Amino acid sequence: MIVGILKEIKVEENRVSMTPAGVEVMTQHGHTILVEKSAGAASGFTDEMYLEAGAEIADTPQEIFSKSEMVMHVKEPQKSEYDLMRPGQIMFTYLHLAANQVLTEAMIRSGSVCIAYETIQKADGSLPLLTPMSEVAGRMAIQQGAKFLEMSKGGQGILLGGVPGVDPGNVLILGGGVVGTNAAKMACGLGARVVLLDTSLDRLRYLSDVMPKNCFLLMSSPATIRDRIQAADVVVGAVLIPGAKAPSLVTRDMLASMKPGAVMVDVAIDQGGCFETSRPTTHGDPTYIEEGVVHYCVANMPGGVAKTSTLALTNATLPYALEIASMGWEAAVRENPEIRLGANVVSGKITYKGVAEAFDMEY
Ligand code: NAD
Repeated sequence: MIVGILKEIKVEENRVSMTPAGVEVMTQHGHTILVEKSAGAASGFTDEMYLEAGAEIADTPQEIFSKSEMVMHVKEPQKSEYDLMRPGQIMFTYLHLAANQVLTEAMIRSGSVCIAYETIQKADGSLPLLTPMSEVAGRMAIQQGAKFLEMSKGGQGILLGGVPGVDPGNVLILGGGVVGTNAAKMACGLGARVVLLDTSLDRLRYLSDVMPKNCFLLMSSPATIRDRIQAADVVVGAVLIPGAKAPSLVTRDMLASMKPGAVMVDVAIDQGGCFETSRPTTHGDPTYIEEGVVHYCVANMPGGVAKTSTLALTNATLPYALEIASMGWEAAVRENPEIRLGANVVSGKITYKGVAEAFDMEY
C-alpha cells in the first residue's frame, strides 16, 4: 500500500505520525511510504533520515493526498485539507469527531475511511493510542509544576525534593488513572510527599501495592480535597469520567485556603478542566494567576515534548498502521475488533455510535 505521512499544520503541533524507524518496518513489509518534506523536522527527524529508511519525499500535501491509499496525521485534518481527501482513501489519525461537527461533516463529504486513533479500543476497555499521550502528560505535569514553583516563574520558591534538613514539597494528585499514576511516579521520584486521590477503591488498592512509600492513597471526596489542598505546593488535575465533561473538583473558594504561589496543573483541561478557575492555555503562554495560585492549563501538553511524544505515539500506532496497510481496511476492520472500533466514518456514513449521538445523525 502507498502510505502518506503529512507534515502537521495545526498550531503548536510538532509531532509527526511516523518515525524513520517506522518507515523502515513498513518498507520491509513491502509498503511505499511518502513523507511530506520536513514533516519530521520539529521532532528531530530530517528528510535524509527518512530517505535512508526507504521513504520517498513529497513536496506538498496535495502530492501526499493524491498518491496515497492511506494518509497518516497526528492531529485532525485542518480546513485547507478537507477538499484534498479522496473517496476510499484511509485517514488514520486522532480525529475527536464528537467534539467537532464541521470536521465530521467534512469527513462524511470526503467519502474517505476515517479510522480514529482515540477510539481504537482493547477488549479490557483500554485505549492503546491514548495511553502513551496520557503517560507523557502525567510525567510532564510534575516537570511543569516543579518549574513554575520557581520564583522567577511566579511560584513560591520551593524545591519539590527538598534537601537534607529541609522538608520536600507536597503534591496533591486528583485521579489515579494513567495521567495521575505517571505524575505520582515522577513526584515520588523527586522525593516529594505525594497524596493521590481516586474514587475507585479497586484502583486505590492496586496503587497501594505498586507505588513507593512517599505516595499516600486516599478516597477522593470534596471534604478530602478541601482538607489536603491547603498544604499542597503542586496540585495535578487528572480525572476522567468517560464521555462526560470533567467534574469541577477544586472550587474558587478552595483557592483562598491555598498557599500563595502554589501551582495547579490541570491536565484534564482538554475535557473542560477539573478546577473551577481553569481555562485553556498554550505552550507559548502556559500560565496565569488566579487568587494568588499559578494555573498551568495547556490542552496539548505532549506537543511541548514532541520528540518523546512522537516516539511514544508511533510505538503504539505502528502495529495498527502495518495491519491496516497489509490487510486493507476492510479485512482489518472485519478481523480486528480493536480496529473496528476505530472506524468513525466510512465512505460517507458514520460508523461510531458516540459521533452519531453527538450530532443526532444517522448511524
Ligand atoms: P484515566 O481514565 O486513566 O483515569 C482517570 C481517573 O480519574 C480514573 O482512575 C477515575 O477513577 C478517576 N476519577 C474519576 N472521578 C474522580 C474524582 N471525582 N476524584 C478523583 N478521581 C476521579 O484517564 P487518564 O488517561 O489518566 O486521563 C486523565 C485526563 O487527562 C483526561 O481528561 C484526559 O483527556 C486528559 N489528558 C490531557 C492531556 C493534555 O495534554 N492536557 C494529555 C493526555 C490526557
